[in-house]
Order: sequence, then structure tokens, then C-alpha cells
Amino acid sequence: MEIEYRKLGLKVGLEIHQQLDSKFKLFCSCPTKLAPENVKYREVTRNLWLSKSELGEIDPAALYEIARGRKIVYRIPEGHACLVELDEEPPHDINREALVISLSIAKALNARPVDEVYVMRKIVVDGSNTAGFQRTAIIALGGSIEDEDGAVGIQTIALEEDAARKIAEESDYVVYNLDRLGIPLIEISTAPDIGTPEQALRVAYRIGLIMRLSGKVKRGIGTIRQDLNISIESGERIEVKGVDKLELIPKVITYEVLRQLSLLDIREELRRRRLKPEDISEFYIDVSEVMKDCRSRIIKTSLDRGMKVYALPLPGFKGILGREVCSGRRFGTELSDYAKAWGSVGGLIHSDELPAYGISEKDLESLYKYLGLNGDRDAFILIVSDYERADRAFKAVINRLKYAFIGVPKETRAANPDGTTRYLRPQPGAARMYPETDILPLRVDESILREVEKIAIPRPEDVLRILVEEHGISRELASQLIRDPSLHLYLDLVEELRDITSPQIIASTLIVHMKSLKRDGIEVDRISYIDLVKILSAVGRGEIAKEVIPEAIKVVVSGSSFEDFLESRRVLSVEELEKIVEEAIKSNADLVKSRGFERSIGLIMGKVMSVARGRADGALVNTLVRKKLQEFLTP
Ligand SMILES: [Zn+2]
Repeated sequence: MEIEYRKLGLKVGLEIHQQLDSKFKLFCSCPTKLAPENVKYREVTRNLWLSKSELGEIDPAALYEIARGRKIVYRIPEGHACLVELDEEPPHDINREALVISLSIAKALNARPVDEVYVMRKIVVDGSNTAGFQRTAIIALGGSIEDEDGAVGIQTIALEEDAARKIAEESDYVVYNLDRLGIPLIEISTAPDIGTPEQALRVAYRIGLIMRLSGKVKRGIGTIRQDLNISIESGERIEVKGVDKLELIPKVITYEVLRQLSLLDIREELRRRRLKPEDISEFYIDVSEVMKDCRSRIIKTSLDRGMKVYALPLPGFKGILGREVCSGRRFGTELSDYAKAWGSVGGLIHSDELPAYGISEKDLESLYKYLGLNGDRDAFILIVSDYERADRAFKAVINRLKYAFIGVPKETRAANPDGTTRYLRPQPGAARMYPETDILPLRVDESILREVEKIAIPRPEDVLRILVEEHGISRELASQLIRDPSLHLYLDLVEELRDITSPQIIASTLIVHMKSLKRDGIEVDRISYIDLVKILSAVGRGEIAKEVIPEAIKVVVSGSSFEDFLESRRVLSVEELEKIVEEAIKSNADLVKSRGFERSIGLIMGKVMSVARGRADGALVNTLVRKKLQEFLTP
């Protein structure tokens, strides 16, 4: 289906978070590297406390986390976190290097620096900050980024501390590693000027490129994260957190638009059916007795463990829960997210998906009968759990169902790897920032601005010249590369393979080979960075011929090891070739003797090349064959 984004009034804003490659963390002297797996650590456990913001209101996002009542465990790796991260010592002054880097990026985005940097506290309630808030400071305002569909405004650029890294999570506890907490992040927020999914991708790409060209940001997985806010005129402004791959941005936007349109359709359908929010029952019913002979394994084992099956009757709702909202996700999935998030239950089962999961047609009939419902018109939801969790889950589901009559609920959602999103938490209220009293404001004075001037970030326009003049790649390839998202990967590889593999080979692998393999249906995106490095360095070292790059990529993507491939395709040494030539002459000795020198060359060439094809240069083989034949025939 073609979606007319402009007609729908699509507005997208990007919030890009990128870790800076400064020596120290933002408010202490710990390093900005994540701790290795085997590092010594200790752990402390804390309970989430009720955080009333200083403006008095309790944040809905805070209420949500408190309702979940989880224990929080902090892992403190030796040498990677100190008392500041633990919130047992006040923060030190803001890291000047990080400030200079972020101001230089701000400059490249045409933003103007603030006169004074004020550190603020932003309430964070999921436990990922030990203090219950994240420190953040606006360092520049305004600015813009060029795009073929019109310039996109930059609203704010902030410098902030990264959160702790979640390493384990269960329904009743969560474990965070403090190594990431405090790493400086630049946060770039665009205005909601973006009108199409493709434009969002271009803008994110361009901002990413500018940061990367500063040479002062971290690279690799997890060092850049994109949040999106997406709205359509008739819908709601939805925050989507944690899009960690650039290429996913257009998908996330398209799916979110479809989801909002579907929720609006559901609202229309509910109105058509003359249903009202008051029709939604506040009561759910224990149906364990009805389900005691059910063959479903989930239900059986849960009942055996003393849990119950609860049902929420939904008169008039037949077909609504099974409606698709986007790419394989149904309205029932949306409700299930609420049940999981608020009740910590495994999920829910709804009548539109039954019979399934071992629940038979007969079970379904008994349930309809027991609940006094009509199977042609009505629906119900089942939750299998203990009472306490079921109660929390149902309360959330009932609230969400009532919101279906209003439209799209204001939510913060998280991106799934396929580009769909799931409910994460309610959107925080406005009252979540207040001043950090432990840190004095910092004047952005001449000396800081002079340091900013020293970091010259090439403009994307200058990159073409660098590629051609400094890397020596052809102008044609370079002009394709600067418009391609693989430019980032190219720059990584050039740096990694400096003095080993020529930039021209790297560029043509990414732009020519990868693209043509993709057209042939090979899933080249599955190749790992490490495998790419292996292939390209083998070419650079002359171990394999550059002609076999496409084949090598194919082999690795199909799951075979590159090492095996390398062994089978390794370029043969002169000694090895000489041996093969000698063998070929020896096993054809009589024929060679009777034919003589000239008439044996073709014969022996053919024998040798059948073994060495793709692994030896034809001209070299020819020379060796002549030399060995001469030796053999000369007494
Ligand atoms: Zn520290």
C-alpha cells in the first residue's frame, strides 16, 4: 500500500545520541571504555525509591516503574566506575574535552553555542542512573542541516551522561553495569521538520557523517542510538527509543504510521458498533475450573504450579483484538505488551486467536458459555498467572482498551529488530528537569571557543575531494560512495586496513560487489565486520585474488568459515607451482618426450591450470612450464 505521508501530515523529529571519544567520563576521571568480561567487580542492590520531582508532581513514568516494584542490582567493575557513578560522591566539574568536541560538532551543524552551560537533572526512573536522574546540559541552540526536500532545523544540542548498561533483566530484578554510566554523549535534536521516512534516513545519515568526520566520536555497535518522535495529524506524537541501525529508521516510521492509522480504524469500528468505554468490564473472572481439563501445556503446567486462569469478558469485541495494526502485530499484541509491562506476566491470550496453543474448539465453547458470552459477537482475554500479577496486568489492559475509544495513546515505545515497535512506558510528564545544584555553571569563554576552532570537521562536500585526492579512489566510485550509507563502513575499513588493502578495493567491494550480490538475492547485510576485514586483508596481503571477493562474501554469508575458503583459494607460491608443474611433466613423461618442447607446452599448461585455476597467474605458470620442460628435455 502506498502511504501518502504528506497528506497524513507526517512529522518526524530525530534525537541522535552519540558517545564521544573523550579520555574521561563527563563528571569523573573514569575511562570511557566498557569493562572487559573478566574484570573484577562488586555488586550493590538498591530498591527504586519514589522520586517526587521538585515541582511536586509524580511523573507517570515514575509511577509505572514503582508499580513494577523491581530490585535493582548495580555491578561496579574495577577501574571502570567510581563513587561518582555510585552517587556516593558529588560529580566533578564537567569534562572540558567533551564540551569542546560537542561544540565543534554543533558548529558544523550551524548551531550557536550558549553563553553558559547549566547542568540539569532529568528524571530517569528505570534505575539506569544510580541517582534517579541523568545529568544533561544544553550546549548549543538553533542550527540546520541541508536536505534535498528542504533544510531541517536543529533545535537543541546537549551534552549528557550515558546511562548504565542493562546486562540482565527478570520480572523482579534488573542488573546494570556501571561502566557505561557517565560516558559523554552528544544529543542532537532536530525539529519535527521531516516529512517522509526517506528524508529521515538522509538527515540521520548526514548528521552521523558530520559527527564521524570530527574523528572524536566512538564507533561500533551501541555507540550511536537514534530516538524518533513520529506523529500524524489525526494521531499522536509517539516517541520511539533505541533505533540502533540507521537503515531501520524508514521502516520504523512506516510501521508507526500504519499502527496509528489502524488504531484510528479500530476507534471507528468501535463507534460503528455503538460500544462505549463504560461497556468494558472492570472485573475479570477466575475460569481455572473450566480450563482444568484443557490440553494446553501452558495452562496445564501453570495450573499445576498453583496459578490461575483469569478471563476478562469483552461483549461486542469479536474480531477487534485480532486486527492487524502493523506487520504481524495485532491489537491483541498491543494489549499483551501492557500486560507484560505492568503485570510482569508472560502475555495474554485472546479469543480472536483461538483455537490455538492447545486450547480446543470445545474449550473455547465452554469458556464462552461460562462467561455468558456469544461466540459470534463477543470476545475475551485470558491471563494465566498468580492473582497479584494478573490484577496489575488486567488493570493496565482495561485502561488501554478504554483508550481505544479515544485513539492513539501517548506512549514511549521501543524499536524491535524488525522495525516494529512495542510499548515501553508512558511518556514522561513535562516536569522532569530541574537544576543540578552540585555543579556550577560554566562560561563558554574565548579559550573554549579557540579550542573548538582547532577541530576542523570537513563538510560532507569536502569528503569527495578527500576520497579522490587522499585515498586515491576513482572519481566515479567516490561520488557513489559519498551518497551511500556504506561510507561509514568504508571509512572504518580504510582505517583498519591502512597499509594492507587499497581504498579502491575496499570501495569497489562495498559499492560494486556487495550491491550486485544483493541484487542476486544474497543476504550481504548479514556479513560481519570481522569477516569483511578478513576477506579484504587477505586480498591486500595477496593471499587471494581480488576477483574472488564476491565468492568469498557469498561463502561467508552462507555460514561457512572464511578460513576454509581461504585454504581452498589461497594463491599458490612459486615453489608449490613448480611442484605441480614437475608432477604434470612426470606423469606425462612419455607423451612429452615424443611431442617435444613446443608441442608439450599447451598440454602441460592445461594440466597445471586445471589444478591452479584462480590461484595462480597464467603468465607465471607459462614461464614455469617452459622452464621445467626445458630442464626435463635437456639431458
Ligand atoms: Zn567514575
